[in-house]
Amino acid sequence: MDRHAEDSQESTASGTSAAMEDTRTFAGVPDSFHRLWTPHRMAYIRGEAKPADETTQECPFCSAPARSDEDGLIVYRGDTCFVVMNLFPYNSGHLLVCPYRHVSDYVDLTADERQELGELTAMAMRVERQVSSPHGFNLGMNQGAIAGAGIAAHLHQHVVPRWGGDANFLPIIAQTKAVPELLGDARTRLATAWHAFIESEEGSDA
Ligand SMILES: [Zn+2]
Repeated sequence: MDRHAEDSQESTASGTSAAMEDTRTFAGVPDSFHRLWTPHRMAYIRGEAKPADETTQECPFCSAPARSDEDGLIVYRGDTCFVVMNLFPYNSGHLLVCPYRHVSDYVDLTADERQELGELTAMAMRVERQVSSPHGFNLGMNQGAIAGAGIAAHLHQHVVPRWGGDANFLPIIAQTKAVPELLGDARTRLATAWHAFIESEEGSDA
């Protein structure tokens, strides 16, 4: 937790209203929280707007896999689904598991996609536990904008690690949540752990 405290101080040092940015101008899953840190200075997000419509051209979950892992903030690429850092995290290590296909409804996934979505969700939990020892998780999908989906057109499963005390007073009184970790650093740590996990499993199968 020392790491969190240290980064938190650094990232909130300039936490004036001037440092807050409008989340609607960035790709990802927007919510009502303002944020005190600015990982969206990275090339991935520069100039990217919230989707103007629901086409694949406007969809951040369709464009991310075409980028490098670093630029796309991709943690793992499976056969039918991939795992990406959420640009609008509710908490450190907030991952999204998405099908490559631009499909909105869980019902419309193929059997293979549905199976891999589940497997990658479980793997994300294993990797998060190894990397940051969360005390619990929130898992889930918002189906449709009315249910809270920021990018309703492209299905995404949230994997949100939780720690005791992580829901502090800030979101309640100020609609502000400090996420004390830069997304690029988190991606690197999770991707490294993910691939090490796979190698260790393959080693144990041999
Ligand atoms: Zn899409």
